[in-house]
Amino acid sequence: MESAAIIRECSDVRNMGVDTAYGRSGVWLDSPLIDMIHGEGYTRHQFPGMCRAFDNYDIDIVKQPMLIYPSLHYQNGGIEINERCESNIPGLFIAGEASGGVHGRNRLMGNSVLDYNVFGRRVGKQASEYAKSVKLGKLSLEHVTAYAGEMTDQGIDSDLISPVILPSYTPEDVRLHQLARLGNIPARHSILRSRIGCGCGNGKEGK
Ligand SMILES: Cc1cc2nc3c(=O)[nH]c(=O)nc-3n(C[C@H](O)[C@H](O)[C@H](O)COP(=O)(O)OP(=O)(O)OC[C@H]3O[C@@H](n4cnc5c(N)ncnc54)[C@H](O)[C@@H]3O)c2cc1C
Repeated sequence: MESAAIIRECSDVRNMGVDTAYGRSGVWLDSPLIDMIHGEGYTRHQFPGMCRAFDNYDIDIVKQPMLIYPSLHYQNGGIEINERCESNIPGLFIAGEASGGVHGRNRLMGNSVLDYNVFGRRVGKQASEYAKSVKLGKLSLEHVTAYAGEMTDQGIDSDLISPVILPSYTPEDVRLHQLARLGNIPARHSILRSRIGCGCGNGKEGK
């Protein structure tokens, strides 16, 4: 709820966010209030890692508020697995956020580290066992070409880098930077290309 409220305040609709040097907006988190409520030393005792991180930039969050904005913290996956981390696609093993069901509808704090240690180990063991028996076919990128062909046949014009299952939470300016890095902007996306000044950041004219 807090995140939704912060995002709403910073949205184009309300436009109440504090501008940052990076062109984004955020809100001030009143961290000095924590010591005022719970007593001196509480913040440094309870949040030592965060204090250290901010100390590195000469910001004392006990005395100064922090400029914050919510980001995606965890995705409750969705791919069903069995106790050996196998999905229903032979050879596709899953652990971590991509898997579903381990945490129910929400994850308890800190349980992701536990999750990927336990299931990451299982995946490794199971996949290496599986690899011993599997016969590899010929590797190719034909599926990518086929996918691009299907998109063209269906008249779908998209600047997505690859098929995505989950919505992108990446802000537009960061996405432009990613596209520029990949040098992957097709000629038809003239607006994107002109905004980042193609050459596309890789020293070559993008195709
Ligand atoms: C700010 C923050 C703080 C957190 N703090 C805690 C905490 O204190 N305790 C806790 O338990 N959990 C915490 N979490 C959650 C935890 O870190 C994550 O749930 C965990 O790292 C997820 O691990 P994963 O292996 O499932 O996914 P990821 O760590 O996201 O690994 C996925 C990997 O796949 C790669 N990848 C993605 N797409 C492709 C592709 N198409 N081809 C090839 N590679 C690809 C990515 O680059 C990435 O390396 C925190 C998360 C955040 C964001």
